[in-house]
Amino acid sequence: MLLAGIHLSGVIHHRRMIGILGGTFDPIHYGHLRTALDVQEALGLERIHFVPLKHAVHRDQPGVPAELRASMVQTAIARYPGFVMDDRELHSDRPSYSLYTLQSFRRQMPHTSLCFLLGMDAFRDFLNWHEPMEILELAHLVVMRRPAEELQNAPLQRLVAERSIEDVTQFDQSQGGSILFQSVTQLAISATDIRQRVQQGRSLRYLLPDAVITIIDQLKLYQSS
Ligand code: ATP
Repeated sequence: MLLAGIHLSGVIHHRRMIGILGGTFDPIHYGHLRTALDVQEALGLERIHFVPLKHAVHRDQPGVPAELRASMVQTAIARYPGFVMDDRELHSDRPSYSLYTLQSFRRQMPHTSLCFLLGMDAFRDFLNWHEPMEILELAHLVVMRRPAEELQNAPLQRLVAERSIEDVTQFDQSQGGSILFQSVTQLAISATDIRQRVQQGRSLRYLLPDAVITIIDQLKLYQSS
């Protein structure tokens, strides 16, 4: 639980904090689910919004339509009330820039700390995103360590030196602007690997929830590249 807070008229108020995990989720897997839970517990987040993107901007377009990727997310998190499937990008025709997504959360929740979760692989590219410094004003970044990912980019290392914090209680002092490196369960699972396994006719069991595997099997997803 959080210890620090903001002091208003003699009463300590903790900021509300939510997590946001954007991704292609093509498909969602335990590398997303377990690590999000680790962050939620470590930071005491009220809930985590899973936000499937519609139009990828920094990578190839996902092969599976957004609605179907979203329904796999919905299926995967259905039994866990702390996780929310958030379809705000699905109804937008603009490119799925994280900046727009965070602006939309900020309009809806003006006083909440927004913790934007991302894996180390995604963070390595952060300075090439659309308006990264505006993103960092709107939200804190929580970087989830991922197997075999190191930071080598010097401008990004400078940003980390300026903005990184050791302790989540410091998130309470502002609604955004800090970077926290969070240890999470190290799961070398990726959607790319899952799609390859389908093409090779190999089993997906224990890499992602059974109910999602059933959808992939029934709809014959990922069988052709
Ligand atoms: P792909 O292999 O298709 O690139 P992915 O498995 O990386 O997909 P995304 O939907 O692109 O999944 O990821 C969404 C977010 O979750 C990204 O910030 C990514 O870094 C993070 N993430 C994905 N898998 C893991 C994992 N195993 N451990 C930690 N973070 C992860």
